[in-house]
Amino acid sequence: MVDESDKYATMTNDDFVEHLIAHIDEHVQLKELLQIPGIYEILGEYYNNDVLERWSTAQHWTCPTCGAYVDDYGKFCQPSCRPDYHEPTAVHEVKI
Ligand SMILES: [Zn+2]
Repeated sequence: MVDESDKYATMTNDDFVEHLIAHIDEHVQLKELLQIPGIYEILGEYYNNDVLERWSTAQHWTCPTCGAYVDDYGKFCQPSCRPDYHEPTAVHEVKI
């Protein structure tokens, strides 16, 4: 009979790390990691400057009026988002 307490006796810390990485790689989504208590705080603090830079860059690529993504810096996504846009007035053709 195998003594359960000896089952992992030969496992080294490196073994644990190797299998931990493999498990996370194969089974865990990054979004799930952020839900583990304490992880969000650690990653958020560690990558704080990268996140701020990323956010700042993203602001340049959104429509200033509605926030939709645009192809060019400072552009509006559609004519109606321009501040000087006016609804087209209906033109009635007069038939003679
Ligand atoms: Zn827009």
